[in-house]
Parts: sequence; C-alpha cells; structure tokens
Amino acid sequence: MTERAAHIQAWIDERAEQMADLVIRLVACETENPPGRGLAECAEVLREEMDRLGLSASRSLRSNRPARSRTRGSCAAPSVTGNKLVYFHGHFDVVPVQDRAQFTAQRRDGAIIGRGTADMKGGIVSMLYGAAAATELGLLGDGRIVIHLVCDEETGSAVGSGYLRDHDLIDPAALAMMTAEQSGEAIWNAAKGALSMRVDVHGRPIHVGQAFKGVNSFLHMLKVAAPLEAYAKRMSDRHTAYPVGEGEAPGTMVVIGGQSGGGSNFNVVPARTSFTIDGRFNPEENIDAELEHITTIINNAARDAGADVSIHVTQLAPAADTPLTDPIARLLGDCATAVTAAPARYELCAGCLDTRWYSQLGIPAFGYGAGRFDVSHGPDEYVEEAALHRVAAVYALFANELMR
Ligand SMILES: [Zn+2]
Repeated sequence: MTERAAHIQAWIDERAEQMADLVIRLVACETENPPGRGLAECAEVLREEMDRLGLSASRSLRSNRPARSRTRGSCAAPSVTGNKLVYFHGHFDVVPVQDRAQFTAQRRDGAIIGRGTADMKGGIVSMLYGAAAATELGLLGDGRIVIHLVCDEETGSAVGSGYLRDHDLIDPAALAMMTAEQSGEAIWNAAKGALSMRVDVHGRPIHVGQAFKGVNSFLHMLKVAAPLEAYAKRMSDRHTAYPVGEGEAPGTMVVIGGQSGGGSNFNVVPARTSFTIDGRFNPEENIDAELEHITTIINNAARDAGADVSIHVTQLAPAADTPLTDPIARLLGDCATAVTAAPARYELCAGCLDTRWYSQLGIPAFGYGAGRFDVSHGPDEYVEEAALHRVAAVYALFANELMR
C-alpha cells in the first residue's frame, strides 16, 4: 500500500464502528422498492449523516404519484466548491425482503448481514466516508465531490437518475462517476442494457360450448412466441469482447415468458393471453435495433398465424461502457491496487447500472463496491466490513488522483 493510501485507510479504519452503525441504521429504514416505501425516512437519515460528516446535504422531495401522495426522497451534496468534479452516486431503495428479519441487520464475524448491506446501503456508507476522508484530509484541492443518492434504481431510475438528467443536474464536464454497486471489488467499466416488453395476444372469448365461434388467444400466443426461442439462442451465441465475471456468460441473455398467462376461466375461450420478453444486452448490441428486430419477428409470426397482437415496451435502458483505453479507467484500477495490493479486475456487469445516465453524457463511469453480486437480492445478503473500508479508501484516493 502506498503511503497516501495507508494514510487514508487509517482515517477510514478509525471510523469502523460509526460506519457499521450507519449501515445498520440504513438497513432498518424499510425502503423496499417495489412498492417504494420508507424512502423519505431514509433520505432524512442520510441528510443528517451527511451534515454530520460535513458534506452539506440538500434533500429534494417530490411526489411522483400525487394520487397516492407517496413521497420519494433524494439527497445531493456538493461537498466543497471547486472546478473539477467527480460524482459519487448511490441508491437507497432495496428489493423486497424474503423475510422481515432482514431489516434488522446482524453484525457477525466481520460482516454485516441484512437487506441492502451489499446492494447498496453498505456502498453508500463507503461513499460517504470516502468523501468525508477526502474532504477532511484536504485531498480535493480546488475540486469537489458531488454525491447523488437516488431512490428508485431497482425500478428503472426514472424518478431518481432520470430526474437528475432531465433537469441538467449531471454536468457533462465531470471527470468521472462512481457508483457503489455490488461488484465484489471488481471494476465494472461496462454494464448491459435492458429491454423488457409485454406482448398481448388478443382473441374472441366465448363459452366452451360454442368454442368454434371464438378466437383462442393462447393458441395464437404459442405461434407468436415460438420463433423467439431461436432469437434468444442466437443472441446468447453473440459474445461480448468485455471480460465477464466468474460464472457469468459472455452472450446477451433473453428470457421469453418470464411472466405469461391470461384467460378468464378454464371453460371459456381466452380473450387475451400475454407473455413477457426480457433481455440483458451486451454493450456491443444496439438496443433500439434489437427492439425493432424483436417487433418484426413477432409481427411476422402474428401475420402468419392470423393473430392480433400488441407490444408494450416496459423498460429500455441502454448499455453503459467506458473503454479500458480511457486513462480514467486505468487510474481507478491503479487506486484500487494501491489500496488492496491486488491487480485490478475489470468486468462487464451482467445487469444494468446507473452508470448509463453518466456515460451517455461522455463521463467515464464505473460500478465499484464492496458487496457481492451473488448474494445481492437474496435471503443471505451481507457485506464484509473490511471490504467496505477498502472501497471507501479507494474512493477517496481516486478523488484525490482526479483532482491532482
Ligand atoms: Zn443496486
């Protein structure tokens, strides 16, 4: 470890108890999304904590569904003013628990166990302490860290990151963006795009006794969905040039019929049968072109079958990538190595990341966090405390290097 890295790491390690305490308090805010509850409460905890750490937080609250008067919260914190800028970006919503006990985090054997510890309340704590270390140790020169904490990453980011983009709150001149997603200390310099849709197949309902007068939407659906099997196979055979994580596949993954169903009763010809298509597309693929491709396959099959279909796109999130030739990507790897003494690992994230909102503006953007991908969203989600501390030190060092 370099001397500067050791200095930063010592500052972080001295605050290990405070960091663990904050992770546990954040986990206790029940920010399950869907449905998106407890978010304002959690935003308030974050705001107070950022103020305490000298990170001058401001909180923006708005109701995205006034009819239900649900309030969502986000935090933003310009830590100090300056010309050079790096974004630390996190989300404090979590996926629904398997067991309510997951909201009571347990600290055991150097790990914290509970919902959101890996994805990504633990990561947020690393970012806040990394930013606080950089500020307090005077590592930022005339630069600044801006922290964006958003509330709806698990359901598409429209209200959080989408709001930031739509209101020009992301400065394209920023030097870099980091998000503390559960990369297991790999550097996710690229992430897949997501395309999800529902296909409704329409028929004509009638009682089984007069079935000959009906149009069976289920049987039409079988014909419409069938050619998509070959499409999914073709896509999985198209490999990315980016290195993928251990146990991950290099192809684009498409699930046909993750959800399917319809009809009103067993003795009625079904009026409507639906199925979903959900894909995670490699950065090399053009997601708009693939949407058109899938639509053509469905429409051709529907025409051949005489079926009446409608297609509803429910998610379209482009991929994100910052090439390894970008010196900022190398700089982050060097910072990780300075702290961990291990060679930097670069990987393509198998899911989609909020990095896309930044990389679309040309900002080098990375997922880098302490949690593990394979435990996130599961019943045994946990994060190692030592990893939280290492990652916090890398954040501070990276900000320092960027501002030099
Ligand atoms: Zn996450």
